[in-house]
Amino acid sequence: MSTAGDLKLLPKQWLEEAKVLFPVLSEFRRELHRHPELSMQEVETTRKIKAFLAEEGITLLPLDMPVGVLAEIAGASEGPTVALRADIDALPVQEETGLPYASIEAGRMHACGHDFHTAAILGAAVLLKRHAHKLRGKVRLLFQPAEEKGTGARVMIEAGALEGVEAIFGMHNKPELPVGTIGLSTGPLMASVDGFKIKVHGKGGHAAVPDAAIDPIVAASAIVGGIQTAVSRNTSPFDRAVVSICSFHSGTTWNVIPDVAVLDGTVRTFRQEVRHDMPDRLHRIAMGIAAGYGAEAELSWFSGIPSVDNDAAAVETVRNAAQALKLKITEAVPSAGGEDFAHYQEKVPGCFIWMGTSGTEEWHHPKFTLNEEALIPGAALFALTAVQALEKDR
Ligand SMILES: [Zn+2]
Ligand SMILES: [Zn+2]
Repeated sequence: MSTAGDLKLLPKQWLEEAKVLFPVLSEFRRELHRHPELSMQEVETTRKIKAFLAEEGITLLPLDMPVGVLAEIAGASEGPTVALRADIDALPVQEETGLPYASIEAGRMHACGHDFHTAAILGAAVLLKRHAHKLRGKVRLLFQPAEEKGTGARVMIEAGALEGVEAIFGMHNKPELPVGTIGLSTGPLMASVDGFKIKVHGKGGHAAVPDAAIDPIVAASAIVGGIQTAVSRNTSPFDRAVVSICSFHSGTTWNVIPDVAVLDGTVRTFRQEVRHDMPDRLHRIAMGIAAGYGAEAELSWFSGIPSVDNDAAAVETVRNAAQALKLKITEAVPSAGGEDFAHYQEKVPGCFIWMGTSGTEEWHHPKFTLNEEALIPGAALFALTAVQALEKDR
């Protein structure tokens, strides 16, 4: 019998070991929760993660970045490398949970639960390290900064974090799902996130003499309504997309028609084809409407992160591990939010899952909480997923 066979036979043991580890993981998570750090400022968080890994005898890999951690667990024999990823940053939110371990840093909070992701992946790392002598291949650990800014994954990739990696796995806590349930699906799970700015140029004048002016506010108002048709009239009802104008700036006072109006917005899509067509479509609509009012419009496009798109084989690996652990699996409901885990999936096949945490509030809410007991299935699932991914092509 292969050593891998031994590992596969013991799903219950992974959960039992994770249960024993729970107090340590909870304590670590609470320490991060008390001292949240914002994107690209995760200096102390980085130090704490490194200290934890070093204590467990897990090898830290060089990473030419001020924040973020790269580590690796080598098995006893040659084989592929698979990666587990956690994000580590917090948000500029004033915590209102009243928890005994609530943030003591003014205006900063782990309101997206990245402290939980970090602790769960550390738990998986400890379990894997303990069984490393039975492992084939290597498990790379990515503790990524600046997910909330959508920039951390790219920086990690540029620093070489994915070198040699054949598959990657990650999670986000999901308040709506109970502890012990995961949300899993093949294909798009989270939206691409792009931004745009539309500048409408008119001709200023006296408020009482509109006929001598070209009012950019009226033209821009029509554009706000008009570009919604990029979703309702141009996107298939079987695709999903969002266009939101979130800022509208024009004018300085009550009796002067201004020259210019500026709109800022975001586009969320789930399929590459839909995303690809959006800039041109919005530009055409904005220009056409503006022209109808005698004004001119220009559109600037800011490409953000692609959509999280789960690879079918990677999903199956997670599904098998979750089933072995007797976790409940539900079809993951996609989110129009973005996740820069998508950048890793542009490079290697991967799977991003929802981890049920029986939360009370949505992500980013000042009263956001989660049930820490989800650290147990979280650590066990990611450990077993890594093992099964390493054994896959055997
Ligand atoms: Zn977030
Ligand atoms: Zn998050």
